[in-house]
Amino acid sequence: MNHSDAPNMTSRDPSRFRAALHALYDALDAEVARLGPVCQLSGRCCRFAEYDHTLFVSAPEVALLLDEAPPPVRPLDDGASCPWQDAAGRCVARGARPLGCRVYYCDPSYQADAAEQSEVFIRRLKRLVEEDDLPWNYAPLHRHLHSAVAEGRFPKPGAINE
Ligand code: SF4
Repeated sequence: MNHSDAPNMTSRDPSRFRAALHALYDALDAEVARLGPVCQLSGRCCRFAEYDHTLFVSAPEVALLLDEAPPPVRPLDDGASCPWQDAAGRCVARGARPLGCRVYYCDPSYQADAAEQSEVFIRRLKRLVEEDDLPWNYAPLHRHLHSAVAEGRFPKPGAINE
């Protein structure tokens, strides 16, 4: 098996693991819906610096995000905010957003559940990565995105913030 931390071409083409990763996201969304955290639509969870929060993502999650998300709506910064959060604080990449975005809510009464679900689903994600022989490369979103910029993979050709 290849559990290298280095990204490779396999991890950049999500076609092989797209269905499995979406199934995992759907299962997580269902679990979060069952737990019912309150979202006040403040958008703080995506303004990382303001909320003192770093979004970690694996290589397959980034591959799916880059493949399926619409063009970013704000310039890529050094980690303060997410390029897919619009001016009203909404995510324009909801269908492709990574695991961390799906499990994280600022509702204080949900924090223990968030930690538990995060652990459960990251374990499932790791299993998927191992079974499909994909790289893990779990790192801050912005580190992945700046690498993708350097390699000419982000934003996609034709995107508004090119
Ligand atoms: S992908 Fe969407 S939910 Fe995740 S940090 Fe960016 S704007 Fe927020």
